[in-house]
Amino acid sequence: MYTKPVTTKEMFAKAYDGGYAIGAFNVNNMEIVQGITEAAKEVNAPLILQVSKGARAYANHTYLIKLVEAAIIETGLPIALHLDHGDSFELCKSCIDGGFTSVMIDASSKPFEENVALTRKVVEYAHDHGVVVEAELGTLAGVEDEVKVSAEDSSYTHPEEVEEFVSKTGCDSLAIAIGTSHGAYKFTPDQCTRNEQGILVPPPLRFDVLEEVSKRLPGFPIVLHGSSSVPQEFVKMINENGGKMPDAVGIPEEQLRKAATLSVCKINIDSDLRLAMTGSIRKFFAEHPEKFDPREYLKPARANIKELVKHKLVDVLGCAGKA
Ligand SMILES: [Zn+2]
Repeated sequence: MYTKPVTTKEMFAKAYDGGYAIGAFNVNNMEIVQGITEAAKEVNAPLILQVSKGARAYANHTYLIKLVEAAIIETGLPIALHLDHGDSFELCKSCIDGGFTSVMIDASSKPFEENVALTRKVVEYAHDHGVVVEAELGTLAGVEDEVKVSAEDSSYTHPEEVEEFVSKTGCDSLAIAIGTSHGAYKFTPDQCTRNEQGILVPPPLRFDVLEEVSKRLPGFPIVLHGSSSVPQEFVKMINENGGKMPDAVGIPEEQLRKAATLSVCKINIDSDLRLAMTGSIRKFFAEHPEKFDPREYLKPARANIKELVKHKLVDVLGCAGKA
């Protein structure tokens, strides 16, 4: 039974050897925290709950920390509290000082040497305080809280750079770019083909890049960002209830499943939770226009997040029963 957040060290070591990945879910409010952690408790899965700069701006650092602590006390699960896309030493330091057990420093948009220098600085401070660090090489396209990268500026990770980067920085895990992307519109229709139902089928992930990286960094945990699958049932629920999200498309779950069996130990999922929550609330209001109690419309939203997360833990990440 855990009562405090843990680091990702032990969970990544087990995930690497066990051929599964840990789900890293973004949290912004109580219902999201509860939906995710109730699912994990039911299937006994370790978890990473991550907070972006935008989440901190929205909900306040203290609220988020206390919500995550409450979830750990309620579930007793090993849960890491992680900063998603830290963009400066000061932000990372403030999270380390404030009780996070893991931080990401994302200097991937900077030249290699600057990325190394900033990551190294964060690693030194973090390791002095018992906190682990995720870094990034290569850039993902898409839009996330405060992170906007156009498809032209994105680039796959260059495998020949990874050994030097990891040995110079001392980072504990590495996010790489192999074709995943942030947001609910990961690919434009012309980057995709369409199946018989008219649903967009995106280009496959670059498993050749992942394999080359893993060969150069044996035993080292790799992270995939932007790995929502954009479930079409929720896109449909949104569109049928007044929403407008044509051609939203994500990463097929079977490709994430494959990545989880390889060196990928952490898979980030955010947009799918947003879609589940928004679809549920839109449907509730369409069916009950007279209702106005937030508990009534947040309850099905939380329940759908829970079901979605349970499915991810069991069928996609493979981490059920591993807590
Ligand atoms: Zn990300």
